[in-house]
Amino acid sequence: MRLKKLQLHGFKTFADKTEVEFADGVTAIVGPNGSGKSNIGDGILWVLGEQKASALRGTKAADVIFAGSESRPATGMAEVHLTFQNDGRSAPAQYAGFGEITITRRLFRNGDSDYAINKTPCRLLDITELFLGTGVGTRAYSIIEQGRIGLIVSAKPEDRRSILEEAAGVTKYKARRKQAERKLDATEQNLLRLSDVVGEVGKRHTLGLGDAVNVYIGAEDVAHP
Ligand code: ATP
Repeated sequence: MRLKKLQLHGFKTFADKTEVEFADGVTAIVGPNGSGKSNIGDGILWVLGEQKASALRGTKAADVIFAGSESRPATGMAEVHLTFQNDGRSAPAQYAGFGEITITRRLFRNGDSDYAINKTPCRLLDITELFLGTGVGTRAYSIIEQGRIGLIVSAKPEDRRSILEEAAGVTKYKARRKQAERKLDATEQNLLRLSDVVGEVGKRHTLGLGDAVNVYIGAEDVAHP
């Protein structure tokens, strides 16, 4: 799925409806300090479901809603739409027929919020599941903050590799592999413990059978002397 368009309305500095088209190749957004360039990255993170206000450079959820300026009052709602071009390969089967997939997130000042996929209301979980395995997601997108560009340029090749791996989403899979290996280890330990228990129970069971046989023989002896 390819990022195609971002629409912001009432989100941070974007009081009016603002649309950013991502054409083929590189898209650069240029503007003076404080004009809202980084807010565009925040908008992408937010619509993908980011829940932490700090990750969006705020302190509370409502900080993403346009807070007003000298010339205009605050808005009551923030809304972001993110449109992907569906390449037909990575999206789940139920979206196969859609040429474009647009996800939407809205937040009202009274705390109400909603999500939608192609204008159909949905849960955040549906959005997360839509992107599972596509490489898109709040943690999968790599947003390289200001100041890190210089770091990348001057980094040692091995450090640069880890930054590129992170951007390519490889770190996520490495982390998952480590987690899977830890689970396998724990399962192996459990199996060992279980086979000890089975051995122990087996021994007792044999003893018990022997006892029963003895008792039976004794009883038979009694019944049929
Ligand atoms: P720089 O180049 O200096 O990093 P930038 O273009 O990336 O700047 P941002 O960091 O995206 O700018 O925007 C910061 C501006 O956004 C600040 O002026 C801040 O007051 C404004 N801002 C953040 N949240 C809101 C909001 N909810 N309502 C109105 N303005 C907001």
